Formats: sequence, C-alpha cells, structure tokens
Amino acid sequence: MRQIGVLGGTFDPVHYGHLAIAEEARVQLGLDEVLFVPADKPYFKLDWKITPARHRLAMLRLAIQDNPYFKVSTIETDRPGVSYTVDTLQELRHQYGGEVEIYFILGWDAVDDFPNWHEPGRIVELAHLVAAARPGYHPDFSGLEAAIPQAAGQIIPLELPVLGVSSTEIRRRVRQGQSIRYLVPEAVERYIKEKRLYR
Ligand code: ATP
Repeated sequence: MRQIGVLGGTFDPVHYGHLAIAEEARVQLGLDEVLFVPADKPYFKLDWKITPARHRLAMLRLAIQDNPYFKVSTIETDRPGVSYTVDTLQELRHQYGGEVEIYFILGWDAVDDFPNWHEPGRIVELAHLVAAARPGYHPDFSGLEAAIPQAAGQIIPLELPVLGVSSTEIRRRVRQGQSIRYLVPEAVERYIKEKRLYR
C-alpha cells in the first residue's frame, strides 16, 4: 500500500513554509511521496486575483527539483472550473487504483476553516488529516471533531519548528521592493524577478 501526502494550496508563490511542512510530514509519517496540488480556482479565493497557473506550477517545479520525494500534480489546474479537494482526493484514489493511503496536509489556518469546505465529512473518509502548526493560529480540534464526527480521533498533529512565512507576505514584500531571500528557494526568487511577478 502506497502512502502519499497531499498538500493543496494556491502556492502564489510557493515558500519555505510549504516545503517545511511537506518534508516534516514525509519524514514523520514515512510517506512514499508528497504531491503538491496547486488549485486552479480555489473556491474560497474566487474573488482574488490569482497568478496564472503556469507561473505557479513553474515556481513549484523549481522549488521541489532537488527533493526526489516531492511531485507537482496538475490534477486541479487541468480540470476546468472550481477546485474542490474532495474531487481531487477521489480522482487520486482512482489514479492509484485504490492501493493508496492518503494523508492530506494542512496548516492550522486551513484546519480552522475546514468545516466550511465542500463535503468535509467525505474528505476525512478519503484521507487522514495532518495538521501543521502555523504561527498566529490555535485551531480547536474538538470543535472540528464536533462539526465533523468522521474526523474524531483522525487528525494527526505535526510537530515542527513553526515558520511565519505566507504567500501574502511574499507578494507584499516584492511589491514594496523588500527582500524575499531565505523565505523562498533561490530559484523561485529568480523566477519572480525574471517574470516580474507581484509588482
Ligand atoms: P496566502 O497568504 O496567499 O493565503 P498561504 O501562504 O497561506 O497563502 P497556501 O498556498 O494558501 O499558502 O497554503 C497551502 C497550505 O499550506 C495550507 O494548508 C496552509 O495552511 C499551509 N501553509 C502555508 N504556509 C504555512 C506555514 N508557514 N506554516 C504552516 N502551514 C502553512
């Protein structure tokens, strides 16, 4: 049985917070691989102006290139319309022929919001939830378990040195001409500069 981690997100752009939680989940849970799944149009960010998928994918590929356990999946960017995690997990199960255990990785901010997602009960039937600490958030796991009984006892907490970096902060820094060195991989920093993203 393959054990895979799935990290969904907007990745606009990918940063060391994403890479750190993916690596930590891989090591702590002994995962065979971690798939980074950028959303095409995340349903909760429909009113945001999101960078075209080709740039977000290119930055992800640059960011993970030296980690053989990391892969980028275009499952959501290839699928027209709004991205729902539940559909992605279902499709991944189908692709792997059922012989797969999925660990869906999320930061504490996403855990907080999880009960508002599309079909959260079904998501926890398809995958284990792995919750990574994120500064500024203290999610209420018991509240989540009360809202989604299928999640009770199913949430795997991930211990890691917390990183306060966010894509919002990276975009703000680029816009204001501040340094993003050591917050994103060097190749991603170069790509942002070359393509003049987030100006
Ligand atoms: P934005 O600032 O644009 O909202 P973001 O930095 O939160 O973006 P996303 O692509 O939305 O990044 O995040 C994808 C997933 O990674 C989410 O589950 C989120 O909680 C998690 N994540 C992102 N940054 C961190 C971090 N620094 N620590 C822990 N988890 C994180």
